[in-house]
Formats: sequence, structure tokens, C-alpha cells
Amino acid sequence: IGSERSELIPLLLAYQDEFGYVSEFAMQYIADQLKIPANEVYGVATFFHFINKKPKGKFIIRLSRDMSSIMKGAKSVARQLRNDLGIRFGETTPDGMFTLEWTSCIGMNYQAPAMMVNNEVFSNLTPPMVHRIIEECRQEARTRRPTVGNVGETFSSILSYSSHAPNSALTRAVEEMTPVDVASELTVSGLKGRGGAGFPTGVKWSLAAKAEGDVKYIICNADEGEPGTFKDRVLLGKYADLVFEGMTLAGYAVGAREGIVYLRYEYTHLRPHLEAVLEARRQANLLGENILGKDGFSFDIRIHMGAGAYVCGEETALIESLEGRRGEPRNRPPYPVEKGLHGRPTVVNNVETLATASCIIARGVNWFTSIGTERSKGFKLFSVSGDCARPGVYELPWGMTVRQLLELVDGVGAKAVQVGGYTGELVPESQFDRVMGYEDLGIGGSIIVYGKGRDMLEVAENYLEFFVEESCGQCTGCRIGNQKLLDGVRLLQKGTCSNRYLNDLIGLSHSIKTTSKCGLGQASPNVFIAINEHFKEEIMARPVLAA
Ligand code: SF4
Repeated sequence: IGSERSELIPLLLAYQDEFGYVSEFAMQYIADQLKIPANEVYGVATFFHFINKKPKGKFIIRLSRDMSSIMKGAKSVARQLRNDLGIRFGETTPDGMFTLEWTSCIGMNYQAPAMMVNNEVFSNLTPPMVHRIIEECRQEARTRRPTVGNVGETFSSILSYSSHAPNSALTRAVEEMTPVDVASELTVSGLKGRGGAGFPTGVKWSLAAKAEGDVKYIICNADEGEPGTFKDRVLLGKYADLVFEGMTLAGYAVGAREGIVYLRYEYTHLRPHLEAVLEARRQANLLGENILGKDGFSFDIRIHMGAGAYVCGEETALIESLEGRRGEPRNRPPYPVEKGLHGRPTVVNNVETLATASCIIARGVNWFTSIGTERSKGFKLFSVSGDCARPGVYELPWGMTVRQLLELVDGVGAKAVQVGGYTGELVPESQFDRVMGYEDLGIGGSIIVYGKGRDMLEVAENYLEFFVEESCGQCTGCRIGNQKLLDGVRLLQKGTCSNRYLNDLIGLSHSIKTTSKCGLGQASPNVFIAINEHFKEEIMARPVLAA
């Protein structure tokens, strides 16, 4: 057992792997070893969805309930699961074989509905398939855990990532460029963070390079939890080398020796592949000491598993959890580039940002700036799901309209598109000529298409259930306000909401946005505001009390 607080979450997960759950006795034992109060260990353990605090079944079945899954039949799959297992969601079978749970998006939206059985992923589910999987588990359980899974890709138009020689960016950097050159070239390229916040990557690297500190860190944010997003999973599965190369470039530019991939728990199935790629890079002297023969340039990467908390996608929350704390966003400033992990200058970049940085250094600024628009340079990966004939990951230049994207994915006839995941914008048909780019819809990349027959109150209910579940609870508006909005949506569904109360809830939406500390609370009311703005007739078609 380790002795550093930052080992707390890996220790909790290791205990769970061994014993199936983390008992209070185990928490006390870990607390004693790490010399931290037991209540803090309990506070961390109870924060994360995938740390089991009580015994669960040998097979934990987690069915994704994001909107794409619901639209593609998750409810009929859920019925089949309940019937086959004879239990409700949240319960364990009396023989201790199965636990049945809902979970939020597991990054399989274009192959929805999807579920995890322990760490295996099953997608494109139908009720007969689910029945078969349960039977297989029952039979195989006597001898081994299930090994079947079908995480395949049905599409891909990712071109830029494979169109230059492997590791040419890193070779160019160490042979021709100083660390300052690397950050400067990215600044000139106009690359902005692809996770959604859109901060200029070169500027971030420069700030971290200039920040004082003998120890610095590069973190790859692979906690892809925004519902509807799965492009980072595809990148890590197909182009992990490029992502690690981007981290190494960042290490070179910033002067960091350590890189950490913060991998979401739902992507545990990717870990063996990623570890193998890292090892191959060490063997090729692309990681380790004196990389590619460059004296003094040393950098290595390790993988840290998340434990299931959407809010840890926010960089300061991610850092908190890396330090062994609850993943609660910090006040800023100071920013991570000055005081991040363990108080040291830290760069946190999204998976796609790092892979794109490699492409730019390999192929040059002019190539990148010739694509896109004035304020949005280059290309972007879009994860497309929902009511369209061709869902998948698309690599497209910035500047396309929502309408053009819909034509490409055959989502013609949609009534609305969720652009940028649940925290993005619900764009109605009348606004399909809006542009995807930082001029207008600067987004993280999740696109969910809603066809004509979709009930927008069901959409709002689904989003708000997610936000209520995922709020870290620090801000009163976010913690209580989102629950009030969810209650309001349910009153509207039942036709028992008054006009006055509806207006109060719209007012509440705006105050949640302004009083919340992080992006979750700042964006969670967007859907409530949007359905009232764009789908008022649909809402009013149900009875609304006058007073
Ligand atoms: Fe936590 Fe919500 Fe506040 Fe973000 S806005 S810090 S998730 S309570």
C-alpha cells in the first residue's frame, strides 16, 4: 500500500478489484495507511459512481440512459433486463450474480443502446441480444468472467490524423525547434482547446513554460463524459501514438518530465492497448530519458483511472481527484498553468487537442490555417448520434452550418440539434444556418439530432436528471436549482404547472447560470431556457394552469 494521498483513488479501485467493493473497514484501513481522516476517505469514495460501497453482483450491468440511447430503444432493453433478471434497476439478484444499474453516457452513442457488463461494452443492443448476453453470463460465470464485447467502429472519416509520417512532429521538434518555437508555432496556428472551453493551446503551453517551478506536469484529459461525445475514445483507440506524441511535445515546450492520462472509468477496456502503445514508445526512445537522443529531454507518461464523475472533466476538479480528493472544481485564479497538480505548473489538454497539436507540428502552420474560418482555424472532430442515418465521428473543417452537417449525416427533417453536448445549445430548425465555429457555436464536438416526433420535455427531463446526478453540490444554485427545474419539467409533463411557476423557473434558470462556479451549473439550465424559447407551443399543448 502506498503512502501518498494522491494514491487514494487508485487504492480504492484496487481494493474494489480484489474484493468487489470497498467496505467501511477497508476505508478505515486505507485512511490509517495514508494518515488522513477516515471521513475524508469516505467522502471521496462516496463521490465517485464507480466505487462500490456495498457488495454488488458478480456481473454489474450498467445500461446507458443518455438521450441517444433512449431514442434508440434503451427502454425496451431495460424491460428485457428487468424481466430476465427479475429485479429492478438499483437491485442485485438474490443469488448475488447480477446487479442492474442505469449509468450516464458510456461513449457509445452512435451504436446505442449500449451497456457495460463489468468493464466489457456491448452496443447496438436489442432485447434478444440482451437475453443472450444474460444467458452467456449465467453459463460462463461458473468458470470465468465474460470476455465478449463488440466495441467496433462502423465509420470514420478521420483523415488528418494518419496523413503524415509517425512521430515526425517529435522528430522535427527535437531536431529543428526550441521549446519556445513549439509553443509559438501552436499560438500562430490558432489551435484552441478541443474539449469545449476553446482556450488557445500555444498560449497555455507558453504560460506554463514561463511559470516558475522545477516540477511541471502535462495532463491529458481523457475523461470524456459529455453525453453524446465519443471522438476521444476513437482517437485513443486508433491514434493513441498521436495523443502521446502531443503530450511529449507539450512536455518539451513546457519543461515537464511527467505526463498523466486521466482516463475515464468507462474506458477501462482501452487501458491494455494504451499501456502497450506507451511501452512501445519507451522501447523506441520516444519516451524516457534523452528522448530521440536529445540531451536533457526526458519525459514519461502514466495512466490514471477516473472513478466515474462527470464534473472531473473540468480541469481543476480533475486535478483535485488526482490529488486524492473529491472532484470538486477549485476557485480560479490561480489557474493550473501557474498552480495545478500538487501546486505545480500544469497543462491540462483534451485528447483531441494533443493529437491535433502533433499534426500541426508535423505538417506546419500553413496547412492548418488554410482550413476553417478566420476565428476558427483547422478542423474538428464531431461525434454525431441520434435521429440520423449515418451517425459516427466526422472530421470536418470549422465553419460548416448545422444544416450542412445534417445533410452529411442524413439527419434531414430534424426538429432540433443539440450542439455541444448537454451543456451546449439546443438549436431549433429555424436556426440551422448557424455556423459551427468560435464565431457562433464553438463546441466540444457532441452533436445529437432530434427528429420530428421527439418530445422536448422528455429531452429536458433526461438532461436535468443527468445534471442533478452529476452536480458536485458546492453551489446552492446548481445543487438545489437543477432539482427544482427537473421537478418543474415533471409538472409540465403532468400538466400541473402554473404559468406563474413556469416564469419563476425561467428566472431561476438565469440565476443558476450566474451563481455557479463551473461549466456544469453555468450551462445546465440551457435546456430549460431553450425549450421555453423554441418549443413553447409544444409545452403549452399540455394543460398549463393559468395562475
Ligand atoms: Fe459543483 Fe455545480 Fe458548482 Fe460546478 S456549478 S462547482 S458542479 S455545484
